[in-house]
Amino acid sequence: MELTDARVAELERIAFQFAARVRTCDPEDNRRWLVELLPDPHDWFRLNFVLAAAVPEDRPWSEMTRWTHQTKEERESAVPLAFAIDPASGRVMKGCGTPAAARRHKERGEDLDPACRDAIRAENRLKKRRYRAKATAQLVTR
Ligand SMILES: [Zn+2]
Repeated sequence: MELTDARVAELERIAFQFAARVRTCDPEDNRRWLVELLPDPHDWFRLNFVLAAAVPEDRPWSEMTRWTHQTKEERESAVPLAFAIDPASGRVMKGCGTPAAARRHKERGEDLDPACRDAIRAENRLKKRRYRAKATAQLVTR
């Protein structure tokens, strides 16, 4: 099969979701998910190349896989993930520590965790700074 740019992009999207799922979902669920998305075993081979291309070669393996030796609680209290899996749809979402995740907590009526609280504060600071910069620019150019 010819590997088009669109196909590579699809494999990249799957690789990214797979990386998120490996950290958060049950291995057997991940196997089923992968086989359903990629029924052709040749694609599993291709996916290895896509995943390998994303591995930073300047960092030790032990550092990149440190999360595998941590408990779920340790992982959740560590640096927030940039993404999370929606258990209902299986889709990748922005993880805690992002304004998107904080808004999601609010929509669901959940309390904000420290990472999401910081993300909202940082976003508000940025908005205020932008507003002031714009207001100042309007004063100067008037
Ligand atoms: Zn959160």
